[in-house]
Parts: sequence; C-alpha cells; structure tokens
Amino acid sequence: MKPAPFAYAKARSVAHAVDLLAHEEARLLAGGQSLIATLNMRLDRPHLLVDINGVPRLDGIALTNGHVEIGALVRHAQAERSAQVIRHAPLIALAMPHIGHPAIRNRGTIGGSIAFADPAAELPACLVALGGEAEIVGPQGPRTVRADDFFKALFETALAPCDVLTLIRIPAVNAATRTGFAEFARRHGDYAMIGLAACARADGKNLSDIRLAYFGVGPVPLRARNAETALSGGDLDGAVAALDTDLDPSDDVQATAAVKTHLAGVLLRRVAKQLMAAPGSAQAGLERWP
Ligand code: FAD
Repeated sequence: MKPAPFAYAKARSVAHAVDLLAHEEARLLAGGQSLIATLNMRLDRPHLLVDINGVPRLDGIALTNGHVEIGALVRHAQAERSAQVIRHAPLIALAMPHIGHPAIRNRGTIGGSIAFADPAAELPACLVALGGEAEIVGPQGPRTVRADDFFKALFETALAPCDVLTLIRIPAVNAATRTGFAEFARRHGDYAMIGLAACARADGKNLSDIRLAYFGVGPVPLRARNAETALSGGDLDGAVAALDTDLDPSDDVQATAAVKTHLAGVLLRRVAKQLMAAPGSAQAGLERWP
C-alpha cells in the first residue's frame, strides 16, 4: 500500500520543528524506519511530515559532566561504532546489534526508537535500566524527563504532540558499574520475543543498585523490582522465582505467557552472570550462580 497524501516540511531548527508540529496532524520524521511503515499501512494519516534530518546539533555524542549524551538524530549504526558509547555506555553498544539489520541501523535513530517506544524494542529498556533521562523541547521550552517516567503506556510516552526529543542522557559507567543484556528473538534482527537490559553496582562479590528492565513482556519496559531485591541479596533462584510476581506477560503470536515467564528466568540467569563478571572477562565462569 501507499500512504495517504501528506505535505512535507524540512525543519531548520528544533524551534522551527516545534512550530511546524503545531499544524493539525503533523508528525516528526527522523529515520523513517517505523513511521513510513505505519503510513504505508495507513495505520496513521498525518497531514504534514516535519523532517528533522539535518537540524543542527542533534547528531552528536558527548561525554558531559559524567554523563553520555546521545543526540536524537544519532543513527543506531553511529552509536554502535562510537568509541564514546562503547567505553562509557557499553550497555547501549551491547544492545545495538540486536536492532533489526544493518540497513535499518544505518537509517534508524536513537530518538526515533525512544519516541516510538515499541514495547519489544531494545533501547527503551536500556534507558530504563541505566536510569537515564530524555531531554525534550516543546512549545513551553526545554524539560528533562526521567526514563522511569517517560514510557507511559503502549506506544505512549511523555512526549506531547508538539514536542521534539533532542537527546538522551545516561550516567557514564565507572569501575564499579556492571551491565548485562540478553534477548530471545526467533531470528537475529527480529524484534525480541522477550529481552532483558540490566545495570548494577558491584561491591566486592555483591551487587547493589540493581535495575532489571524487561522488554517484550508488557506495554512498556518493566522493572522487575522483586527480582532486583532478591538478586541484591545474592539469591538468584529467589530472583527467578520473583519474576512470577514481577511480570504478567500475555499470550501473543510468538509465545504463550508461560513460555515468556520461563524465558524471563533463563535471561535473568544469563544476565546475572554478566553482572557478576569482571569487566573485560569472558563473563562465563561464575561459580556462585552456575
Ligand atoms: P521514525 O520512523 O522516523 O519515527 C518513529 C516515530 O517517532 C514517529 O512517530 C516520529 O514522529 C517519532 N519521532 C522520531 N524522532 C523523534 C524525535 N526526535 N522527537 C519526537 N518524536 C520523534 N527497532 C528495535 O528497537 N528493534 C528491532 O529489532 C527492530 N527491528 C526492525 C526491523 C524492521 C524490518 C524495521 C523496518 C524496523 C525495525 N526496528 C527495530 C525499528 C527501528 O529501530 C526504527 O529505526 C526506530 O523504531 C524508529 O527510529 P526512526 O529514526 O526510524 O524513527
């Protein structure tokens, strides 16, 4: 199918984009990898597309005040190869190869993934696991929204219709930070059936400040808070058991709820090994949690 007719405008700046979005039924166009598909399927019929490609200062990656800032127009492929991201935000670099295929990662943007907020997408869960935040500019000016408050409901975020997401901000890792990532997909590059992004602080052999963010098991990235508590006490079996109360997946075309709950436990065991491994190690030989 082809999209319904629409007008097109190229934004010169973020402020210009915000002004253009005030038009009735306007949508931002970033990498187009999700938006164009929804237009072609006529799931959405905007009157105006506001193209932000080329808007200055949205495509940079910077280390600022102990945080990694990734501009909304940074392509997935750019982030995947960025030395800053690999070194200071390794969870993002770990997750990136799981997003679609190279052609999609060459066009798709960080901002588009976060704004689109597909419940099976990797980056929203990473932002939640890392305790990151989103920088937004709207008609009333700029504001910052914590990841925990950003994802509201299925495909619904803290972004209002005239808002532009300008960057995401993530605490840079330090020597004590541990991150982990794992997902199940039927084929590599497909959206995940279920996935887990995690971040923790290592204190000797113990973990604290654990954040487990599941994706593909609910309308938004879900923190498994009871499992986090059990894992903080070193109780991996207890953490896996706690997933029964933390998660309430539905049957879908890919798997039943029971299969998803089982897979959630398998992923937790894999990610726990990553969290306990010393940075740079092969992350496998954890005797405490075999
Ligand atoms: P667009 O398609 O341009 O926009 C998506 C939505 O976000 C639109 O509503 C748009 O208005 C809004 N938007 C975009 N940028 C902003 C902004 N800065 N501020 C406010 N609103 C904004 N994603 C995954 O996470 N995992 C996968 O496994 C995966 N597999 C894919 C497989 C295929 C075949 C395809 C086509 C896509 C896949 N994707 C996957 C989606 C891909 O990551 C998209 O690039 C991403 O979801 C949207 O980014 P985009 O830049 O293309 O956004």
